[in-house]
Amino acid sequence: MTPGIVTAAYIVSTILFILALGGLSNQETARRGNAYGIAGMILALIATLTGIVTDNHEIVLVALVIGGLVGLLAARKVQMTQMPELVAILHSLVGAAAVLVGYANFMDHGLVISGAAKTIHDIETYLGVLIGAVTFSGSVIAFGKLSGRIGGKPMIFPGRHIFNLGLLLGAIVLGKMFVEQSAAGSGLEALIIMTVIALVFGVHMVMAIGGADMPVVVSMLNSYSGWAAAATGFMLNNDLLIVTGALVGSSGAILSYIMCRAMNRKFFAVIAGGFGTSGGTTVAEAEQGEVIPILAADTAELLLNAREVMIIPGYGMAVAQAQHTVFEITKALRDKGVNVRFGIHPVAGRMPGHMNVLLAEAKVPYDIVFEMDEINEDFPDIDVSVVIGANDIVNPAALEVPDSPIAGMPVLEVWHGKTTVVLKRSMATGYAGVQNPLFFKDNTRMLFGDAKETLDEVLSNLR
Ligand code: NDP
Repeated sequence: MTPGIVTAAYIVSTILFILALGGLSNQETARRGNAYGIAGMILALIATLTGIVTDNHEIVLVALVIGGLVGLLAARKVQMTQMPELVAILHSLVGAAAVLVGYANFMDHGLVISGAAKTIHDIETYLGVLIGAVTFSGSVIAFGKLSGRIGGKPMIFPGRHIFNLGLLLGAIVLGKMFVEQSAAGSGLEALIIMTVIALVFGVHMVMAIGGADMPVVVSMLNSYSGWAAAATGFMLNNDLLIVTGALVGSSGAILSYIMCRAMNRKFFAVIAGGFGTSGGTTVAEAEQGEVIPILAADTAELLLNAREVMIIPGYGMAVAQAQHTVFEITKALRDKGVNVRFGIHPVAGRMPGHMNVLLAEAKVPYDIVFEMDEINEDFPDIDVSVVIGANDIVNPAALEVPDSPIAGMPVLEVWHGKTTVVLKRSMATGYAGVQNPLFFKDNTRMLFGDAKETLDEVLSNLR
């Protein structure tokens, strides 16, 4: 491919990526968005391989086959519940790539530039390695936390803000040293020390974040991985990588903002860590009383006698893979004239949009699926709310217990409805590790068991 054709292909890829992002913003167009993204990436790879990479095609092709196979196997093997940790580990790969490209680029003595151009190139290299290293180690810890390999409790030590500030100052001083030394032909030591600092910062930042604030971290690391890719694009002088990285970086930043708003958190407060450290659990646990269990047959009876039903899915629905039964129940109730709606909390499940994906997979009509803000006022008119494997997102402690780890987070206020049926297997806490006073309210009924099994039973009693 000639440089002109490569540029044209890159422009088409860019347009396809923008269309992909546009499509992914809505459930109805998400599949089309994905198709645009795949087409854009295939075109970008072909243009890069045939137009930019001039030799060593064999090595690149072998790497492509190995990477493609690993990706294919991972995507086929991974369960829907493991998607968030897969996303986290993929972010770590972007970070690692940025670090490795930065080092390779720095050590490539074939690159002859000098003066201001060299300084700018060195700054790009330094920033690329810095962001890449933070993304890499932060994402590995996020992977550990999301997969349960590392406990969800925040690891806080005194003086952590001073420590973070020290790391930041160290990175700035080393950056200045690196640029100066690089002009004189050295600078590798400064780059290595900064990489270690950035790796430590990534670990420390994510370890300090409490369970319920993880959604913000996941979207923030998503954003970082984009900026790391953009920095790599600058290093390699590759326009498409710059644009793609900027698209990922800015969409991740917007998602972080949405997540912060959903959780009523300030972005910098989350990054500085420290939420989820107070003694809220004990306060909430002190309110415990008796719970009132209910059987599947009685739940079916309640639903048949209702006019307005609200279904609140949570992480447990994903674990139980109960979404298809939920759809069947919805259909059966709607056929009998019951108005069924779904209320989706922005951080339900373990990744943004988790519940929407499951409901779409089960073919639940989009027009009965509502965001929390759209339906939270409606609960006083709801006859039966069915909470399926959700816990933190319906926890009144977020509003009532000021020192709770989830204090201030808006939740679905199901308890204002007439009756709430909560489906879960035990009295265990959710991701944030906080007991839920909802379970002990007079108008709450607990339907214990695996959500798929209990819902199958409810369904058979509806027919
Ligand atoms: P929670 O983790 O709060 O609660 C899930 C509940 O599901 C548990 O209490 C569990 O109780 C129950 N459960 C698990 N398996 C089953 C099953 N097979 N059948 C029935 N119930 C089951 O989930 P929520 O969706 O309410 O809240 C999401 C939490 O995850 C929030 O704290 C959020 O901050 C966090 N998070 C969200 C991310 C996102 O991007 N959405 C990313 C990272 C974290 P039991 O064991 O008793 O069955």
